[in-house]
Parts: sequence; structure tokens; C-alpha cells
Amino acid sequence: MRCSKCKRPAATFIRYSGRHLCEKHFNEFFESRVKAEVRRQGGLHSKGVIAVGVSGGKDSVVALHMIKKIAAGRPNLQIHAITVDEGIEGYRQESIPVVRRNCKKLGVTLHIVKFKEIAGKAMDEIAKTKDGKARACAYCGVFRRLCLNAAARQIGASHLVTGHNLDDTAQSILMNFCRGDVSKLARLGPHKNVQPGLIPRLEPLRSIPEKENALYAMLNGLEVHIAECPYARSAQRNKYRAIINELELHSPGTRHAIVSTYDQILPTLEKEFHVGEVSKCKKCGEPTSGKVCMACEMKERLKAK
Ligand code: SF4
Ligand code: ZN
Repeated sequence: MRCSKCKRPAATFIRYSGRHLCEKHFNEFFESRVKAEVRRQGGLHSKGVIAVGVSGGKDSVVALHMIKKIAAGRPNLQIHAITVDEGIEGYRQESIPVVRRNCKKLGVTLHIVKFKEIAGKAMDEIAKTKDGKARACAYCGVFRRLCLNAAARQIGASHLVTGHNLDDTAQSILMNFCRGDVSKLARLGPHKNVQPGLIPRLEPLRSIPEKENALYAMLNGLEVHIAECPYARSAQRNKYRAIINELELHSPGTRHAIVSTYDQILPTLEKEFHVGEVSKCKKCGEPTSGKVCMACEMKERLKAK
């Protein structure tokens, strides 16, 4: 097949837009959408610090490279990477060197935060408890957000960049919708408002399908960590991934439609659920929408096991 733009051999077929693209035009298509997404979410400042959460997987590595690219020409804007070491034997130790090499290549300062120091327990210990075994990813997600937010705040970041892609976003929307958790639905990132103690999230890859991130990383020779977390099979998200992939197969563009519908109803949800009104957790002082934050609730639950 030939590129729809220049007739060179195509590197990929973009099903939802019906276009074949060569390497050069795929890269242009990819980067222009990431830049537009960053602008749509408020853009980067010309100075200060931007923190990027980097696990070493393809999405976060691509996000780091793209933010560095967008920040080029802004000498007063520093990019820092934050890696959360959850304490997963045989998994995280292998991805951290990948993050280190990417940071070295880009001249980015790396900060490593350990679960054990912030959450009190490593993920391997959490997964040994009854509740932790059944809901490993739920614990991991809450404690990871806590670690990233605390580290980003400590380095004085104005934004916390994450590698969430289109597939992740569509899955999170459908998951919260099916659970009936409308309040959480109203609070999914990216965040437009600055709330005390909570570093606003920026999601440059929000409109990019996961497979396109993988292709971009491969075509541009980015080093990424490819391995599956030993707890990944218990993730609730897997069911929603399978459903959305099936829908996308029959109706290309479904993921974009889910996210775009969500964006259209978001202003109403934000108003209804008073998004922007954040209080301090009575136990730890971290920002929360309730009285006690989810991380403290989970720590209590772990103590009881
Ligand atoms: Fe954490 Fe689950 Fe991801 Fe493993 S798969 S790193 S436990 S969220
Ligand atoms: Zn708390």
C-alpha cells in the first residue's frame, strides 16, 4: 500500500480515518495531534517545572519525549521525570534502567518515589493480603496517584504529565459509567482548574490510540520497557478493554466517540458534582473530595487484614 499523501510505501493504515501513511507522514500526523491536545488542555508555560510520570512503558516514554520536544525553545522551562517504584519484584527493577537511559538521553532529572515510603507497604506485600490480591490494581492506582502528586508538588511542578492514551481514557469513562460512579467520572483528568495541593494533570496522548504510540516509539527508535506486570490479569479494566476493542473492530472511531461524548457532558458533570471544591484529608492532609482520602481508607483496610 502507498501513503495517501505522498505515494511512498505506507508504514501503517489508520482505520478510523481510512488513511495509509508513510513513516514521515505518520510522524507528522502523530505529533500535530499531540501538540493540539496540549494546546487544548491549556498549553505549557514558558517557565517553571513540568513533571512527567514515567514508568518506562511505551506511553509514558513517548509522553516524555513529546513534552521535551514541545518544550524545546523554552530555556526557562524545566522537565523532570518521576518514576514510582511500586515494589513489584522482577518487574519494576527492569523498567527503571530504561527510564534512566531515556532521561539521560534527554537531559531530564529523574526522581524515584517508593510505594513503601509513601504508602507504607510495597505492592508485593499489598498483593499478599486478601483484599489486595483481589484488587491489586485498585490499590496500585490510588497509591501511585498519591506518590506522583506528592513528588510533583515537592519539586514545585505546575503540571503533572501522564501517558494516558485514547484507549485508557475510553476505558476509564466506560468503567466509571458502568459502575455508576458519576462523581469519579466528573473528576477524571485532565484538570483545568488549579486546586490546592493537587497538581493539575496534563494528558498529551489523550487522543492517540495505544497502537499508534507503540508505532511512534518503534519508528523513532525510543527505548521502552515491554513486559506485563504480574498483577495485570486481575485488573477490572481488562473487561472494558475487551469490550471497547470489540466495538472498535466493528465501528472504527468508537473510542474517539466515547471520549468526545464525555467531553461534551463534562461541564454539566463538573457543575453537578462541585469539581474544584477540594478539602484536606482529616488524616494525612492530602487533597480529597471527601473527609478522608482514598489512600488513607486503603491503608486502614490493609491494617485490618
Ligand atoms: Fe499496578 Fe496493576 Fe499496573 Fe501492575 S498492572 S503496575 S498492579 S496498576
Ligand atoms: Zn489521607
